[in-house]
Amino acid sequence: MTNTVSYIPPRPDPRLPPPRINLFSDTQTKPTPAMREAMARAEVGDEQFGDDPTVWALCDRMCALLGTEAAVFLPSGTMANQIAIRVHCRPGDEILAHETAHIVTSEHGGPWANAGAAVRGLPGERGIFSAETLRAAIRPKSRYAPPQSLVSVEQTANIAGGTVWRAEELAAVVEVARAAGLATHMDGARLMNAAVALGVPAAALARGFDSVWLDFSKGLGAPVGAVLCGSRAFIDEAWRWKQRMGGAMRQAGVIAAACLHALDHHVARLAEDHANARLFADRLAAIEGVTVQPPETNLVFFDPSGAGLSPEALAARLAQRGIRISVLGGRCRAATHLDVTAAMVEEAAAEIRAILGG
Ligand SMILES: *Cc1c(COP(=O)(O)O)cnc(C)c1O
Repeated sequence: MTNTVSYIPPRPDPRLPPPRINLFSDTQTKPTPAMREAMARAEVGDEQFGDDPTVWALCDRMCALLGTEAAVFLPSGTMANQIAIRVHCRPGDEILAHETAHIVTSEHGGPWANAGAAVRGLPGERGIFSAETLRAAIRPKSRYAPPQSLVSVEQTANIAGGTVWRAEELAAVVEVARAAGLATHMDGARLMNAAVALGVPAAALARGFDSVWLDFSKGLGAPVGAVLCGSRAFIDEAWRWKQRMGGAMRQAGVIAAACLHALDHHVARLAEDHANARLFADRLAAIEGVTVQPPETNLVFFDPSGAGLSPEALAARLAQRGIRISVLGGRCRAATHLDVTAAMVEEAAAEIRAILGG
């Protein structure tokens, strides 16, 4: 073992104040009192044996929401991606996805390790590749080249700016993939953010995809959980991998209840997160030397380098003042969510202005 870094996440630094304004990620939401009550009241059973009524209720609800035949409850979005890839691909296959996709950057090589499948990164502005780019990347079937079996899109595209794929862009990509005999997968970690931003039903964005999942532990505010959806045959296979990977659970209704509560109470309010993100971006854009990507949803990417401070240095200075942001893909990222108010966003922007002397 010659690791120079530890893979164990660090404990909170006792020299830093606890975050007063937490823009680090929408994963940092804490379950609300009402959500905790729903969890406490949940009817439960052994999920692994199909006995948990609350998990079934969540799966049925997701099928209705996304227009799919079947669904499976999983502990994380990463597991949803890995299981879907494992079902769609065989060792040696190639997956086509945007070069900034989570499956490329943030799952520790999962597609290569778990499915034996390579991901080929496609270019495209704002994390979105066009149907033409996809068509150009698809090779004729051959005994020599790796077989291409899957196209994956990310809704919203996280590192690219929390950007939104429009229904027409998705439909065009699905059409090209289908024509070439490739399966289609949607990493819908923030699918509901996209649906709310566009004002369209989530099913309209998931249409035509062979698999799609939604994360509940991001802006929807649940502590744990993702639901992977698809055809009955797809979910049947997905269950084998859930079992093999250790994703089969027991009284999981406790966490499924939080997800159901989120669907009832935390979807429409995502519009507030988007408004707060726009407010924050407007305030930052008024600071000299700061470049801001206009937010499309709840993620604000900006670069303070023009004001003389690196993204890392700014994040460290903010942490000393009880404000947490992240650095992702070489830029600062601030995420608005359930536990972030307009007043907090104003305060964070004012602190950044004070630090940068703007
Ligand atoms: C967070 C995220 C994931 C992984 O979800 P977890 O529930 O954290 O495992 C996958 N894809 C995208 C785009 C994400 O933002």
